[in-house]
Amino acid sequence: MRIFMWRQRLANTMRLVHATVFMFLLSSLGGAQWMRRVRAAEPLQMASFEVRIDPRVGKPLAYDPMVESTGPLSCRGIVLLPRDQSAIVLAAVDWLGVANEAQTVFKQKIARAAHTDPQRVLVHALHQHDAPRCDLTSAKILAEYGIAEQFYDTEYLIESMDRAAAAVEQAMGRLQPVTGLRYGRAKVQQVASNRRLIGPDGKVFATRYTACRDEKLRALPEGVIDPWLQMLIFESQSGPLAVLTFYATHPQSYYRTGQSNPDFIGMARDQRQATTGVPHVHFNGAGGNVGAGKYNDGAPANRAVLAERVRKAMREAWETAAPPEPIQVVDWSVVTVRLPLGSHLNATVHRQVLADEGASTLDRLGAAKKLALLQRHPDGVEIDVGRLRLDDQWILWMPGELFVEYQLAAQAMRPQDRVMMAAYGEYGTGYIGTRVAYPQGGYEVSERASNVAPESEFVLVEAMRQLLEVDKPVWPSEFTETRGSLP
Ligand SMILES: [Zn+2]
Repeated sequence: MRIFMWRQRLANTMRLVHATVFMFLLSSLGGAQWMRRVRAAEPLQMASFEVRIDPRVGKPLAYDPMVESTGPLSCRGIVLLPRDQSAIVLAAVDWLGVANEAQTVFKQKIARAAHTDPQRVLVHALHQHDAPRCDLTSAKILAEYGIAEQFYDTEYLIESMDRAAAAVEQAMGRLQPVTGLRYGRAKVQQVASNRRLIGPDGKVFATRYTACRDEKLRALPEGVIDPWLQMLIFESQSGPLAVLTFYATHPQSYYRTGQSNPDFIGMARDQRQATTGVPHVHFNGAGGNVGAGKYNDGAPANRAVLAERVRKAMREAWETAAPPEPIQVVDWSVVTVRLPLGSHLNATVHRQVLADEGASTLDRLGAAKKLALLQRHPDGVEIDVGRLRLDDQWILWMPGELFVEYQLAAQAMRPQDRVMMAAYGEYGTGYIGTRVAYPQGGYEVSERASNVAPESEFVLVEAMRQLLEVDKPVWPSEFTETRGSLP
């Protein structure tokens, strides 16, 4: 595990030296520029950005060809410019996931637009299912077999990244001073439930997927979730500049319709933005093993019902948020980790599946995704885990379809502070369970769904411990249910 914090600090010091020389030169040029430079030295400035990125008709969504749009897909986010630091960019996109080379390219494009380091850029996907998937490495591998276009519209993906980067560049030109930060939270009622149903023998006996038609499974308890929706509101002299929300659940109500849409989470977000007029950026928490299954039998009408429940919590968090407090500490840190690959990853086997024209296209896609990971990271998946600290607010930016227990463990590491988590950064890992979840079985930890080893928990928790600046780790596995009951 390598730590980049010292390097970042050194870079910041160098920037400070450059800025001082620059300011001296400017001051000798005349008063107007000097004044502009002084105003730029606010403790924190920010701007938001948003672009619409609807897929093209006939081109692939994650599972089916695109027929029509029934709701806008967007890429949106915020640019933060703390005094004496380079910019931090947080971007959230209405796609299934952004994986492998696509993460690298997307971050590079945004970093260039914001004149910052790619390690200070976050690319998050909300994980909607009637939305495109984005993985340039898997697309290249599938192209070798002539089937890339069934899954990836590479031209659209790159164009969307370019448009997002252009929006970031424009945002850099309208930064405004942040005068304070407000924190709010509210419980979301009757949306999230744990997907993994554990029997008396400690094994998963059924998975309660997004749409669960079995009444008996729906009647079982919610299980381990994080019911809290957390919110940060950035205030300026002229009112709120942006609102960020965090909530852990799979965001889809039903899918495979060919109709691109941001699903219930995106609907709630968009309705709130329309009501408040304040740019609203939502991040999916560690919701890998969480979905709406307990409260959703798959009836299309449930989409609006679930959206309304999330919207209600967003409104409550907004209305009850604490008064604004000036921000003293803005600190971005990154720990680069190396997650151990699952022992089932095997290039020869994946090549065989890819070459087999009789194999299902989803199996061939799965093989390409695993091969992509192996090609890029033969010795373990190298990933940046990020952390943004705004005074007592700590936000962790995690990879994969992470289990909710990681979020609960992070909060338990700093019980006095406000700890938020977004997962669904690097998507190439697939699901990341807790160590004790793997022997329990079930879809999420299967060889199909998880590309990393159970020991990933050790690596991620150590990164979380460092980034939260605490001595003692808390283990996500401690939160995993080990004994349940049958219906
Ligand atoms: Zn998922």
